[in-house]
Amino acid sequence: MTTELSAATLSELLDQARSDYKELAGRGLALDLTRGKPAPEQLDLSEDLLSLPGGRHTAASGTDVRNYGGLQGLPELREIFADVLQVPVPQLLAAGNSSLELMHDSIVHALLSVLPGAESRWVDQERIAFLCPVPGYDRHFALCERFGIDMIPVPMTADGPDMDTVERLVAEDPAVKGIWCVPKYSNPDGVVYSDETVRRLAAMPTAAPDFRIFWDNAYAAHHLTDEQVQIADVLAACAESGHADRVFVFGSTSKITAAGAGVAFFGSSPANVSWLLANNGKRSIGPDKINQLRHVMFLRDADGVRAHMERQRALLEPKFAAVARILDAELGGTGLAGWTAPKGGYFVTLTVPDGCAKEVVRRAAEAGIVLTPAGATHPYGDDPRDAVIRIAPSYPGLAELEAAIEGLAVCVRLVGYEQRAA
Ligand code: PLP
Repeated sequence: MTTELSAATLSELLDQARSDYKELAGRGLALDLTRGKPAPEQLDLSEDLLSLPGGRHTAASGTDVRNYGGLQGLPELREIFADVLQVPVPQLLAAGNSSLELMHDSIVHALLSVLPGAESRWVDQERIAFLCPVPGYDRHFALCERFGIDMIPVPMTADGPDMDTVERLVAEDPAVKGIWCVPKYSNPDGVVYSDETVRRLAAMPTAAPDFRIFWDNAYAAHHLTDEQVQIADVLAACAESGHADRVFVFGSTSKITAAGAGVAFFGSSPANVSWLLANNGKRSIGPDKINQLRHVMFLRDADGVRAHMERQRALLEPKFAAVARILDAELGGTGLAGWTAPKGGYFVTLTVPDGCAKEVVRRAAEAGIVLTPAGATHPYGDDPRDAVIRIAPSYPGLAELEAAIEGLAVCVRLVGYEQRAA
């Protein structure tokens, strides 16, 4: 990222950045780039959900959705998402409104009841550790912290986690029980796992007999280009490698229909599904099948999901394009920053010179632009290079987003040139 500058040029650039920053701070902005959630216009696309199921209260099987029962969720909804999440219908559960909740519960159940293939409960073991590809999703890391699970960062590559490191760590340490994976349009760097990465994750020998891949396919249908990226079928790959019980697949309609009133899914081997159902059966007499039915009526089938996601894309694509255009115009060629060009998902990752991310976030906040705290993309909030900033373009309106990214670019120039001049 470095570009050689003469002392005179650097001093000129720094002066310009200082005066731009002064002007920025004087504008009294109040902008927010932290919120990785759908904008109101995106939620409006699912407005019809609010009037469904419109008096209907029977599922395809004749089940009265108003009543208790049906822990596995409506088969017709699982049918729609089996394709999206690459899980056969009998092995897919449709549950509550949050996949994060399912991840939380899966960890709690693994702590308190013996997983298929495990020798003992996780809580009875001296130490539990998870591999955390970085940058990653802060709520995954928060779950590990909550349950005292050690986190071991693993660098991301363009093809997913660095598999040489992953294979070494899982082979040598039986305390390593899991790995967090966001395999498609990863949060926050938009990485798509290659087929080879999926194959290696499925096939690698692990010291722990109860090792699990937490496959959080949160952005399975969330394309931003015509490419509609496909990833390899991890569940099938695990079964083919003789590790049928290795993967827990998660997903939800939070960023398809309504974030907060969607439906979450869990998919896995028959043994894991029975294990989860047995445990979930203690905490609930059944999911909200009325919500599931309204999702079936609204989305109809896998093609319906695809068509709906095209409408989502039409709203999101201009925002991601604006981020790329402004960063390119303001920071391109400066050597002060690199950024991702995701083909889907919800985030852009901005990489600034080492030691600058926290200061950029601080200066932006002082100028009225709130960014996700630097470090949030790493376990324990610690980005050892202090270089990664997560940008969430979805929620602000276009004009607000443009103003925020322009302001952010000013802060990057200011902090970057200050560091070079120091
Ligand atoms: N997983 C990832 C990678 C996310 O980015 C998010 C939300 O931002 C979630 C899970 C939350 O999913 P849910 O709303 O289904 O709990």
